[in-house]
Amino acid sequence: MRIADYSVTKAVLERHGFTFKKSFGQNFLTDTNILQKIVATAEIDKGVNVIEIGPGIGALTEFLAEQAAEVMAFEIDDRLLPILAETLTDFDNVQVINEDILQADLQERIKGFKNPNLPIKVVANLPYYITTPILMHLIESKIPFSEFVVMMQKEVADRISAQPKTKAYGSLSIAVQYYMTAKIAFIVPRTVFVPAPNVDSAILKMVRRKEPLVTVKDEDFFFRVAKASFVHRRKTLWNNLTNYFGKSDDVKIKLEQALTQAQLAVNLRGEALSIEEFARLADCLWEQFAH
Ligand code: SAM
Repeated sequence: MRIADYSVTKAVLERHGFTFKKSFGQNFLTDTNILQKIVATAEIDKGVNVIEIGPGIGALTEFLAEQAAEVMAFEIDDRLLPILAETLTDFDNVQVINEDILQADLQERIKGFKNPNLPIKVVANLPYYITTPILMHLIESKIPFSEFVVMMQKEVADRISAQPKTKAYGSLSIAVQYYMTAKIAFIVPRTVFVPAPNVDSAILKMVRRKEPLVTVKDEDFFFRVAKASFVHRRKTLWNNLTNYFGKSDDVKIKLEQALTQAQLAVNLRGEALSIEEFARLADCLWEQFAH
């Protein structure tokens, strides 16, 4: 029997009198086939350390611990600690850390792996209310995670993996795809969770690129330009950029020059630009405004 078997999950929850906290995004997986597929997608073996976010009662952790060198699992809800101590009692390669992942000093924490030199993969069924902040926190930590295999709302997975000229494409696609390739591995129906969420989920596999997808003069500036370009999705690049940089004649002249230099028409919308074109635009704007 597995922790994720419905009858086991139910018995564990009842024995501990556990009540779900919606504010922590608690939807526990009760499908062992899906868990097996997640671990297979992440290609975990004894040469890999894993960071898990939100182990819950340990459904995924159990599979990870069997296959990985070590698992470091961050769980915000201290009511789950005694449960995890019980469900994961057979493993000596799991550390449960009672901490909000968004507050965690990951650079410091990863020194706690017995073998910190192994590649680190992030594998998790993420709490949906903070999927994007968690991903950005992990990416911006500058830890060279080799891969993320994470479950999230299908709609967010669509946005992260979206290509230009689609409705889902936006600053989130750019922020992630700059560092990582992103591909939906498979869809997970809402029916396999307790309690069932209101939406379907997807497993998104993100693999770190050796180098960022594009080279830019100023990364921070590039991301700000990308974000500003999608503030009003239905407006043109010109409208969004004047909203961001200003509407004075001086600013407009500089904007025009940057767009001409980047060989981009003023009436384009942000969604029409590839990440390479955003990089070109950001560099030309940087010459005009930040230089
Ligand atoms: N991994 C379990 C599973 O698949 O059944 C539980 C997944 S559940 C969607 C999300 C888990 O993340 C919950 O256990 C919740 O308490 C935890 N969590 C929520 N916010 C968190 C945060 N900021 N830091 C760490 N864990 C968090």
